[in-house]
Amino acid sequence: MTASAQTVGDWGPHAASLAGRTLTAMLGSGRMPHALLIAGPSGVGKRDLAIRTAQAMLCESVEQRSDGPCRECRNCRRLHDPAQPSLDPQHVDIEVVRPGQLCENREHDNRHARETIIPICAIRRLERIVTLTPFEAKQRVIIIDPADVFHPAASDAFLKTLEEPPDSVHFILITAQQELLPETIRSRCRALTLAPLPPKQLDAWIDRWSETEQVSLPDDPERRAELGRLARGRPGWLQVNLREGDPVTLRAAQIDDAVRIAESDRAERLNWSEQLVGRAATPQSVANVELILEAWTDWWRDLWLQQTDQADGLIHISQRERIQRIAALYDQPELSQFLEMIQRTRALVRRGVNARLALDVLLLNIPAPRESP
Ligand SMILES: [Zn+2]
Ligand SMILES: [Zn+2]
Repeated sequence: MTASAQTVGDWGPHAASLAGRTLTAMLGSGRMPHALLIAGPSGVGKRDLAIRTAQAMLCESVEQRSDGPCRECRNCRRLHDPAQPSLDPQHVDIEVVRPGQLCENREHDNRHARETIIPICAIRRLERIVTLTPFEAKQRVIIIDPADVFHPAASDAFLKTLEEPPDSVHFILITAQQELLPETIRSRCRALTLAPLPPKQLDAWIDRWSETEQVSLPDDPERRAELGRLARGRPGWLQVNLREGDPVTLRAAQIDDAVRIAESDRAERLNWSEQLVGRAATPQSVANVELILEAWTDWWRDLWLQQTDQADGLIHISQRERIQRIAALYDQPELSQFLEMIQRTRALVRRGVNARLALDVLLLNIPAPRESP
């Protein structure tokens, strides 16, 4: 190994954080807890770290694996295939439990496919699986993603499994809302909390990652910087969104819509809302509304920052001129009131109120821009 070579293992974007160092210590000492809880905000990279942890436990390069998995051996590849990054682990001893999964009862199929909780029958299945000896590996890893959506009966049953796990079984629970987990479950897990990465660390990681995964980044330095600001320290967000295209271009299109809608009349606004949500909201259309509201928060906050002489904090730096021009068309109290209203709408949509109605009310309250001079 030359001086410039990286270590063999790779804990990913959180390698240098407490979580990465803790995992290194656990694997190094051969004391991996039976239940890990990976917590942190949405998009921070929890699922990625859960997969890497499972990889490290099964990695064939045994000597180095306390530094993280090699990501190249056969077992590592079966858990994460760079060519199909969104694919679930393809290893018989790794199980991912999530809402919407089918159980062993065929008659439940229709019910489960649209479910947003983990039902009791999923835990019954798990109870059976954990009693089986692992097929190929020495250990069986069960990832629960997310662990905060158990049906109450499922939660009780899962607790029993967690209380007396067979030696070969390791659970990795993932959550963005730790407070929703029952204390009885939380107290049985070793918690690793992931925080957003500082900008320099995120930048360094994204350069390395885009090279190994052959994902292209914007060439233009301003757009590259905007990408970092959009990510807000969340490598998981970047992984998902860069694979789907260029987040800066997508955001620009969302802002074009926001500007157009602010200038449009009532009928056009309601029409747009119907196109977005449809007559009855589906989980997919609600997710779309949440994305739009995230973009709107960023956009209206940029206008407000510009108004209040805080342009250093702008997110959409590639649109600086447009922000200057449009911010001048509003008064500051109008901007801050509307920003608050977007936040309230986001909270309502997250809590499951009628997304169409919430969006309609918001759209009808967009402050009117003054006529450009
Ligand atoms: Zn490996
Ligand atoms: Zn079922």
